[in-house]
Amino acid sequence: MSAISVHDDRLIGLRFEDGLDRSVKAASPPIFETAPFLFDTYEDYADAAAREKEHFVYSRGTNPTVRAAETVIAALERGEACKCFASGMAAVAAALLGSLSAGDHLILVGRVYETSVSLVRYLSKFGITNTIVQATDAESVAQAITARTRAILMESPASYTFEVTDLAALTALARSRGIRTIVDNSWATPLYLKPLELGADIVVHSASKYLGGHNDLVAGAVIASQAIIDRMHTEEYALIGGSLAPFEAWLLIRGLRTLNIRMEVHHRNGLEVAKYLSEHREVARVNHPGLPSHPQHELARRLFKGYAGLFSFELKNGTYEDIRRTLNRLKLIRIGVSWGAMESQIISPNYGSNLEQLRSEHMPESLVRIAVGHEPPELLIADLEAALGEA
Ligand SMILES: *Cc1c(COP(=O)(O)O)cnc(C)c1O
Repeated sequence: MSAISVHDDRLIGLRFEDGLDRSVKAASPPIFETAPFLFDTYEDYADAAAREKEHFVYSRGTNPTVRAAETVIAALERGEACKCFASGMAAVAAALLGSLSAGDHLILVGRVYETSVSLVRYLSKFGITNTIVQATDAESVAQAITARTRAILMESPASYTFEVTDLAALTALARSRGIRTIVDNSWATPLYLKPLELGADIVVHSASKYLGGHNDLVAGAVIASQAIIDRMHTEEYALIGGSLAPFEAWLLIRGLRTLNIRMEVHHRNGLEVAKYLSEHREVARVNHPGLPSHPQHELARRLFKGYAGLFSFELKNGTYEDIRRTLNRLKLIRIGVSWGAMESQIISPNYGSNLEQLRSEHMPESLVRIAVGHEPPELLIADLEAALGEA
């Protein structure tokens, strides 16, 4: 940034003459860590305030660093526009609140991310009803549609159990009934699946996972038509205030630059570890859409250009005690709730104290979810071998 004038050596008068000085060709975008943007004349301000979406006025609305991240993500998803949010949940919330009003009905397909399900339950206090369809096929979803159904929320593959959803069939069904479709694409990333090209109306991301990719940021994104995003910008984004901070946006841009290479390693390592587990005597079943043993493997092959490193498996002896003992023996693979970064992480939905809940949700109690990272696969396999061997 040129033309910085400092008065009397006091930084109070620090002045950036031009926030985006064209003469500075930074290889990496600057972090505009600022709340308001300043104007030389009141006319300039009045002009900007009248069209805030196109001008930088206040960072709860637009910020150049955040906009750079939004531009990249919209391009990756082949969407007209994107808004970044302070978390994946802020993005899911904005997509749902922007699509539903009191009295509307929402359908959830298969096993949706658990906090999204909690949010949907919470929305019932505003008179928004829901149906969770356990199956992922279009016929089962069609049966759940009511006269008040306005939106369908889905993920492919499903959280924890990794059933694959035929997105094209579901978006076609929804379109024919005038229902909006929202797809959480955090698992596949736009590199392996582009839901908008399959007819989805809105894509949401937890950018805390693969898009960020370094376990160092919490962020979210919504990608859709310009009309949907414009409205969301003035309503859910600006009014609820879950805006992404400039520094987080910068980390996100930094992560996105290596998304292709990172996903290739997750794809390769994930398949190798999944194959190893599927042949292990202590493992009853592996839920990875890329394995030929997956019930929807053919659909998965058509749908995804590649596979993320997150999948699950079920232990043969799978009580809480068995899970606890096995996970505690792991040395390289760490216990943690998130996924999408270089470090492999493992978790189970079984806490020992929640068996009844797991059964009511048809969640196998022996299920373990692993996020395969970038460590050499032979080291990950050796770690699992040592932990499972003594089971
Ligand atoms: C983590 C996650 C979210 C929520 O994202 P946050 O960034 O943690 O708020 C939403 N959907 C899926 C599939 C996720 O894994």
